Amino acid sequence: MLDPNGPPGDKRSPVTAPTLVRAVKGMNDVLPADIGRWHRVEAAFRTAMERLGYREVRTPYLEPTPLFVRAIGEATDVVEKEMYSFTHHDEPLTLRPEGTAGAARAYVEHGVHNQEPVTRWYYLGPMFRGERPAKGRYRQFSQVGAECFGDAGPGCDAEMINGLVEFLVEIGIPEPDVFINSIGSAATRAKYKEALVMMLEPVKETLSADSQRRLSTNPLRILDSKHPADRAAVENAPAMTDFLTDEDRAHWDGLRRHLDALGTPYTVDPKLVRGLDYYGRTLFEIKGAYDKLGAGSTLVGGGRYDGMVAQLGGPEVPAIGFAAGLERLLIASDLTVPSNVVDVLIAPIGERAVEAALVLGRDVRRAGVRCDVDSRKTSIKAQLRRANSLGARFAVILGDRELDEGIVELKDLEAHSQEKIARADLPRHIAARVAVPHVAAASPTPPAPASPAGDLT
Ligand code: AMP
Repeated sequence: MLDPNGPPGDKRSPVTAPTLVRAVKGMNDVLPADIGRWHRVEAAFRTAMERLGYREVRTPYLEPTPLFVRAIGEATDVVEKEMYSFTHHDEPLTLRPEGTAGAARAYVEHGVHNQEPVTRWYYLGPMFRGERPAKGRYRQFSQVGAECFGDAGPGCDAEMINGLVEFLVEIGIPEPDVFINSIGSAATRAKYKEALVMMLEPVKETLSADSQRRLSTNPLRILDSKHPADRAAVENAPAMTDFLTDEDRAHWDGLRRHLDALGTPYTVDPKLVRGLDYYGRTLFEIKGAYDKLGAGSTLVGGGRYDGMVAQLGGPEVPAIGFAAGLERLLIASDLTVPSNVVDVLIAPIGERAVEAALVLGRDVRRAGVRCDVDSRKTSIKAQLRRANSLGARFAVILGDRELDEGIVELKDLEAHSQEKIARADLPRHIAARVAVPHVAAASPTPPAPASPAGDLT
């Protein structure tokens, strides 16, 4: 067991009073008051992706460090300075900073390319990057994302971008801005990098320290530097799309044509490059809700990574993917969800009523209704106060007299009305008056029938 006073020989004063233990900086709790919006956006994402023929994949949070070094690229911010890496029993491990590398690893490891020509996977879950925390930027954050393996055509790219825009609109981000670019294939990028370096080398001294270093390691990243000196230096940089090979150009033209046909507006941003090394050809970003997020914040980033599967030891399989920060989507989204916790609070009065209330509560839940039985044995006033704070539409009063008569007192807290109901009828009665089910579940289960009246002892 770890000694709370520190390692033996530690001269600092021993722990005397318990100190507050706080969450790791940049890693946040999501409390139940906020979770309803998370569930809604997650459910909307699952529905949107399943509509597009994607299925969920779940890969581990912990992966071998070399996976990310190989897939993301050594000279990237993520690999250079942001990964949570450690060695456990001589094995170098990293908390996943993004989802694509793990998905591509799983795709290769399970030989999925042998089972189907096109694979469409989506995922959602936490990612870890040691970045400087700010609004919309955390060290543990959640991404929703998707990967499509096996389809090299621009139709796949356009469909993904269009599906994403539809999803964003659905969750209350009304006018997302799509930015696209093509960085071509490896040959195009090599030619472009040469031209860029030639242009920047004479003004190297004016560049930020990071960009001076990148000039030899990863010059494309200088294009998306936020540093004013770098921005000035690249202002007249040639457009990457002017360097495309004929094949790259056909892909690029196809993408724009398909987006036009789908009615998805976009802006071509010739300086759009992305932080991870694995991209080629199509790149895209989606921004929006600038009033809430600020101008710099990207909601979604994605692109084609045709070389990665082979890079990880698999066959040559083209692929495209995207990831969106869930926290950013939630900041941007106008979506509201009902804040009520239950529909019914059952308030037993007196010792004898508690057990009957527990049974009644079970039967109300079996009818698909959310129900809290307050078995604290407090006053009726305190129980009604709690019903209000839980946002319950109904309170059910169950005292000795009601027990003897086989009824309950049903209070409609919205209509401020009250009626007597046979206890056995209560589950069906309430189920008919509240919307069941409440959560937009992927596959709602039909409510089980209420147990027979004889159960209600
Ligand atoms: P990336 O994987 O860097 O392409 O990022 C894709 C999306 O994930 C971004 O557009 C953000 O919405 C989100 N994202 C990336 N890094 C963070 C972070 N540190 N905190 C919150 N969201 C992030």
